[in-house]
Amino acid sequence: METAVLSLDQAVRDLSRVALDELDPSELGSLAVKVGRHIDKIKMLHSRIVVEADRAQSWRESGARDMADWLSGKTGTSRGEAQSRQRLGEALDKSQELADAVENDELSAAAAEQLHDAIMNPPAGTDAEDLADLIDAAKGGGPRDVKAAADRWRETHSSETPEQRTARRYAKRSVSSRPPSDGTVETTVVLPELEHRQFMNAISHVAGDWDTNDTRTPAQRLADGLIQLCKAYAAGTVTGGREKPTILIGCSAETMAGLSDEPGWTSHGDRIPADVVRHLAEDAILRRVVMAGDAVISLGLKVRFATDDQYLALMMRDGGCRWPGCHIPPAWCQVDHLIPVPAGGPSDLDNEVLWCSHHHHVKHRAGVTVLGDAHHLHLLMPDGTLVACPPKGHMNKGTSTGRDDGRTAQAAA
Ligand SMILES: [Zn+2]
Repeated sequence: METAVLSLDQAVRDLSRVALDELDPSELGSLAVKVGRHIDKIKMLHSRIVVEADRAQSWRESGARDMADWLSGKTGTSRGEAQSRQRLGEALDKSQELADAVENDELSAAAAEQLHDAIMNPPAGTDAEDLADLIDAAKGGGPRDVKAAADRWRETHSSETPEQRTARRYAKRSVSSRPPSDGTVETTVVLPELEHRQFMNAISHVAGDWDTNDTRTPAQRLADGLIQLCKAYAAGTVTGGREKPTILIGCSAETMAGLSDEPGWTSHGDRIPADVVRHLAEDAILRRVVMAGDAVISLGLKVRFATDDQYLALMMRDGGCRWPGCHIPPAWCQVDHLIPVPAGGPSDLDNEVLWCSHHHHVKHRAGVTVLGDAHHLHLLMPDGTLVACPPKGHMNKGTSTGRDDGRTAQAAA
């Protein structure tokens, strides 16, 4: 082992003695690619060593909490990088096809790592052949393409319904903070792709346009946007209300009508699952675009399923989120069509209710049955619980939640 490490040291020393200023442009380019490929091979080797060392519990006596913690401490790299090495090692260890693809320069280490979840935790019912197909399809792709291919593969082979998948992803949302260090706190925000886009749009917009005199880093600028937004909220200037169009989402007419589960797309290239597009359409500004290939043949008028008048009426009638005990005010709620419009539900007040974002997701969960109409609404939950969801606005005094009528009326004015 020592000899092998010594010869590696020697190789690095030899390379560092190459007089870069004496190389012509094509030699420099070729060297950059060759060394890059070797680094990738060494990463692969390293990842396998890391996995073996973990198996042998080499870190156990050190007081570190796990392998990644120990490795990052010993090598001065980030915990994220150590984890990524470990993930690659696990995937290579489990799949010979993957190891061969990296060995033959068909996949970079970074691209191969994106297949970790598919290899370590494949959907039920898939076999080695399915996995080999995925690895084959991934060859030649960069990390982003491979990640997208792995996501598509998982979707195709999963027994989850699209609604279950959306609910599972949505359940991963979180905001968590590490203990303070040097007077700052690292906070991690995990959001579904679409909400992440809304988050970035909001803080980027609040941060103001970037200009060439701006000395801030892009990350600092976004942090300023977030700080501003929180200050605006504390000052009472963030007041909810109907969403203004901030994100453009396209989808096919079939997807909209529920005839197809082909995903929608944003102008940033995000893929938005069909059921999420339909969910959003309930409260979005909609516009029909007829296309032939890339040519736009006709543009429809901007419409909403629920008109602005209906929205005001709903604020008055529902007085906030219809979920019992939820106190989210009407201006922060979303319009839900109990029977979706594409499924033939009418756009009128008998079919429309307000939910907060969270309870809107709960209502759309697989297995939730709507009983009654908007005036006498119960939800039958998958576990058999019956949830009564009466209106809470001042027009419904008998079921008032004690929210003051003046405020509701004012909010609607
Ligand atoms: Zn609610």
